Amino acid sequence: MPNDNIATKLLIDGELVEATGNERLPSVNPANEEIIGSSPSAGKADVERAVAAAQKAAPLWATLSVRERIKYVRAIAAGLQARADELLKIEVLDTGNTINKAWGDISSAGEALEYYAGLGLELKGETIPASANNLHITLREPYGVVGRIIPFNHPIKFAANSLAAPLMAGNCVVLKPPEQSPLSAGVLAEICREVLPRGVANIVTGLGSATGDVIVRHPAIKRIGFTGSVTTGMAIQRAAAETCVKHVSLELGGKNPMIVYPDIDPDLAAQTAVGGMNFAWAGQSCGSSSRILVHESLYDAVLKRIVERVAALRLGDPLDPQAQMGPVNSERHYERVCRYIGFGNADGAKLMAGGKRPPGKLFERGYWLQPTVFADVMPSMRIAREEIFGPVLSVFKWKDEAEAFAIANSTDYGLTASILTNDLNTALRAARAVQSGYVWINGASGHFYGTPFGGHKNSGLGNEEGIEELYSYTQNKTIHIMLKL
Ligand code: NAP
Repeated sequence: MPNDNIATKLLIDGELVEATGNERLPSVNPANEEIIGSSPSAGKADVERAVAAAQKAAPLWATLSVRERIKYVRAIAAGLQARADELLKIEVLDTGNTINKAWGDISSAGEALEYYAGLGLELKGETIPASANNLHITLREPYGVVGRIIPFNHPIKFAANSLAAPLMAGNCVVLKPPEQSPLSAGVLAEICREVLPRGVANIVTGLGSATGDVIVRHPAIKRIGFTGSVTTGMAIQRAAAETCVKHVSLELGGKNPMIVYPDIDPDLAAQTAVGGMNFAWAGQSCGSSSRILVHESLYDAVLKRIVERVAALRLGDPLDPQAQMGPVNSERHYERVCRYIGFGNADGAKLMAGGKRPPGKLFERGYWLQPTVFADVMPSMRIAREEIFGPVLSVFKWKDEAEAFAIANSTDYGLTASILTNDLNTALRAARAVQSGYVWINGASGHFYGTPFGGHKNSGLGNEEGIEELYSYTQNKTIHIMLKL
């Protein structure tokens, strides 16, 4: 595989094609700012052709037996596995995520497809004893055409996941990958073209404001699954509602607290905090524990250890298996994270580590930032309230549990939370008190297919990664059969 000039195509109606206007968007390696490839910028006409192709394919796809759809979905997983090494390299070059951890994203992509394929026969309805002389049953029916839009941080994992549940549920899909890191979805498009009937999966790269917006507003798409920021999620809800009634599910941002109780070993707390910040993705993971709330009795001990661990992280070429952190994903995002570091300094948080571009020749070009730790962060500060989505960790001090819960719940987000304590009652009390949709006790950041992942408050609507996601791509039909008893 060439590691430069990776030119992807759109997948529309089973063909790999250029955008109608022949426009392409360059892809930049965030580690050195070199252009490594490009992807078509799909316009309105392209999205409309993709939707039309999906509409045409939908009736046959929906009436295939579940067992046949399982075979097709598994064939995508097998295709990913066959090209895993190539995908891994593309993903690392295109995102800056470190190769060691990006490998997990590639396997997770296959796992998502296998998981939903395995759930195919769970697409069951119910029988309801609502009357004596009728048989009341429900069927789960697909929506027809589903639109999915995904962010830049785990592109191949989200792209594969975006196909898995909707396809198994009998829908056809129009997927928009992220503009900043679209290249791995180009490989997925090639695989889908080989293994799926025409029009069942359509992959259209391009800008959110153009390609994405056309998907959101298209009247034939009645179901949208979006993963991204709160701002875009809200814009999508508004835009979708302007066209027609749509079912929109949202997996959005987080400002996730980790509450460290006094009975926890400070070494373990620091290790879990640094692990939970997902520095291997430069902190760019929605579930990252970006707010560490430490009881005053071990605040100094935990802070010292966090700073030591963060300072020891090995920044380096993301393709180097020894690298523990790469650059942030794009120039625009780099500038955003730098702005937030500025807000932290200006608001009086104590900069304990990082905060700058790392020294050294390797880091002169590219979107490199040192892993950064702020201490003595107060809930009113901007870095405490707003998602930075970068390698910036904020440490807070608390005295009593009520204060810890108040800080934990003081943002509009509610995605994940971590509770570190050796006491089961305390752990469960805290898990119930935090306003988050996904809670780890004595852990952080792990995802487990089969368990529903999703945000409370402004962090989202709906759940993914469990059977709920499969069901969310179906709509109920209730049928009453008059019995002649
Ligand atoms: P983003 O700016 O919201 O973009 C997400 C996707 O939406 C991109 O494909 C983007 O296109 C597209 N888009 C932008 N504006 C649009 C519009 N008006 N209509 C339709 N589509 C539009 O998010 P991001 O910066 O890529 O990703 C980071 C965010 O995602 C963070 O907030 C993070 O927490 C969140 N996230 C959440 C989860 C979760 O599971 N809860 C998982 C991962 C990430 P472009 O490619 O042009 O930007």
